[in-house]
Amino acid sequence: MPTIPYLPARIEGLAELATNLAWSWHRDVRALFHDLDDVLWHQTRHSPLELLRQVEPSRVAACASDPDYLARYDKVMARFHAEMGDAPGWFDEQYPDHNTGPIAYFCAEFGVHNSVPIYSGGLGVLAGDHCKSAADLHVPLVGIGLLYRKGYFDQQLRLDGWQESADVQFDVEGTPLQRMNAADGTPWLTEVRTSGRDVKVGAWRLMVGRVPIYLLDTDFEENHPDDRGLVSKLYDGGPTHRLRQEWILGVGGVRVLRAMGVKPAAWHANEGHAAFMLLERLREELTAGTPLDQAVDHVRRSSIFTTHTPVAAGHDYFSFEDVAECAGPLWDEVPPTREEILGLGSPADKPDQFHMTVLAIRLSSHINGVSRKHGQVSREIWRGLWPERPVESVPIGHITNGVHLQTWMAAPFMDMMDELYNGAWPAVENVAEWDRVLALEPERIWGAHLHLKEVLFKLIREDARWRFKALWQEASHVVGAGVLLDPSAFTIGFARRFATYKRADLLFHDVERLKKLVSDSHRPVQIIFAGKAHPADDPGKQVLQKVYEFSRDPAFAGRVAFLEDYDMHLAHLLVQGVDLWLNLPRVPLEASGTSGMKAGLNGVPQLATLDGWWHEGFDGLAGWAIPTAEPSTDIATVDAQDAARLYELLHDQIVPLYYARSSGGIPSGWVERMRHAIRLSASRFTARRMVQDYVRAYYVPSMESDSAGDDPPGA
Ligand SMILES: *Cc1c(COP(=O)(O)O)cnc(C)c1O
Repeated sequence: MPTIPYLPARIEGLAELATNLAWSWHRDVRALFHDLDDVLWHQTRHSPLELLRQVEPSRVAACASDPDYLARYDKVMARFHAEMGDAPGWFDEQYPDHNTGPIAYFCAEFGVHNSVPIYSGGLGVLAGDHCKSAADLHVPLVGIGLLYRKGYFDQQLRLDGWQESADVQFDVEGTPLQRMNAADGTPWLTEVRTSGRDVKVGAWRLMVGRVPIYLLDTDFEENHPDDRGLVSKLYDGGPTHRLRQEWILGVGGVRVLRAMGVKPAAWHANEGHAAFMLLERLREELTAGTPLDQAVDHVRRSSIFTTHTPVAAGHDYFSFEDVAECAGPLWDEVPPTREEILGLGSPADKPDQFHMTVLAIRLSSHINGVSRKHGQVSREIWRGLWPERPVESVPIGHITNGVHLQTWMAAPFMDMMDELYNGAWPAVENVAEWDRVLALEPERIWGAHLHLKEVLFKLIREDARWRFKALWQEASHVVGAGVLLDPSAFTIGFARRFATYKRADLLFHDVERLKKLVSDSHRPVQIIFAGKAHPADDPGKQVLQKVYEFSRDPAFAGRVAFLEDYDMHLAHLLVQGVDLWLNLPRVPLEASGTSGMKAGLNGVPQLATLDGWWHEGFDGLAGWAIPTAEPSTDIATVDAQDAARLYELLHDQIVPLYYARSSGGIPSGWVERMRHAIRLSASRFTARRMVQDYVRAYYVPSMESDSAGDDPPGA
């Protein structure tokens, strides 16, 4: 447990609040920390534990004797204890008989809050949002992941815009992680044999409301030096390193749960990285003497697998030799042969490769993509595993992603929802109820938006000031970081991983045309970029470098900015503070995309290609869509068509609508779009809806052990 300095007894519950990440999505708890010291709150980038460590005792004492603070504190503590107690929630009311055991949710990364930096991007943030909504709904979920002590990487750009990675170990003591000790007091819980050595595996617990996430750790003196750092960095090293990380996650995860006496009733592999969890459960069955086909059937019945990308590089595969080396070898312990076990992971057309996605598909009875479109694309990609079936009946469904509303909607909009729904709005299940948002007053919406835009621009300046002094020492960096941006100009946000298919450079397809748009003196346009390229993705880094060069090009007059080190904190400010959210994946490569949903919750409409969630979400009211180009195998043609439509939409419709002001200075046509954006995201694209979908379609049927799910793959 992190050490927390002395707190007066009257408010000692602050320590309890600070060690459960539920504080991060409750405004009243955040306010308690904020009010202790607002400057420190910003300096620690909203980390209650860091704040409690650094705050002046006199400030704490003052709050402990302030009647208003104490009244709010008492209310928060009462709610927190009620929330963590036995009072029934949504799940208990819907499924009173399903208290057989939790759902074990395995994922390679979890993005719950910035102060616990063990995520790289979309997948992790989605997993974090999944856990938060499960907690809100009282779904009995247990997360399993890895403790990356060095996190992902901190992005630093060279003067020429090439991305370099800084590697900073975070202080576990400054996070709410709590080590789980074995009954006899040893700090590890189990052992996993890999590459000829037994590796001791321990776990740390991160509480997310009612949901615990157990993060596995191998950093023990008793382990071989190579094994100590096995899980220290996210998506690091070559394929054999990745393989061993995934082996620890899957095999170690099952064994750690067993060691702690947790008995899951259903098992969810969130993305192929977690598929060894299924193999370990198969080994358990085989060791108990179950024949292979029956063991496969048993594992499948209680297993769910979610695939998250149609991009080939997103699906890990390994050579048989590497798997054999890593795995033990498993087949020395159990009856099936090496070929039978390894064959579970090989597609028919690549008999000597071991694919994590194929393994997960073969060992799960419920399989899904993450948007309607991605479900369809995934059925196409994996149809070869069911050679006797037409593509429509390949048993891969979809549950469209969603985002955790209380995490992503800014406080001024939440205040408006409070009034609209008399405080009961987070549980509004009826989609039509959200039509009330369309009646929000334009003045309030616009006022809230302008405030959030100002907050973003202030952060941009402060961040540039800090980096100028601490890192850059070079003035030209400062312009590219957005200090010349004008808070009253139309501002487009584009922030995500710099993978080439996401086309961050599409806006620069016709540089002259963009220059004209940007430098219109009556209706200027400015663009803010942020995002990291994967450290091994050189083409992605080249796109980033190109965008960065434009940000420092005088021809764009300081109206193009690149913000370094995109993370959840920056993501919040961007999705809440820009005017338009832009997403340009090359169709059909985006599985879902979630940042546009976050923007929508804050009344920021989206302009996007018709891919991922926008394919089903675009309604002509909450934003704009770039129509899908004629199918062509020539990428350059597709890009040129998409770019032309992008400029047209901006020039002919979007920018004019933004600048069309009524007498009070309010752009009423634009505000109408803002209302629709809120309504769309809040009614259909929240994690609350997503988790309820998983519960109904997959979790509950998997918990009922007599359900066999759909047919297994034939090949
Ligand atoms: C939401 C989020 C993402 C995912 O955004 P996409 O639109 O899915 O690309 C990535 N990184 C961070 C920090 C996020 O908050």
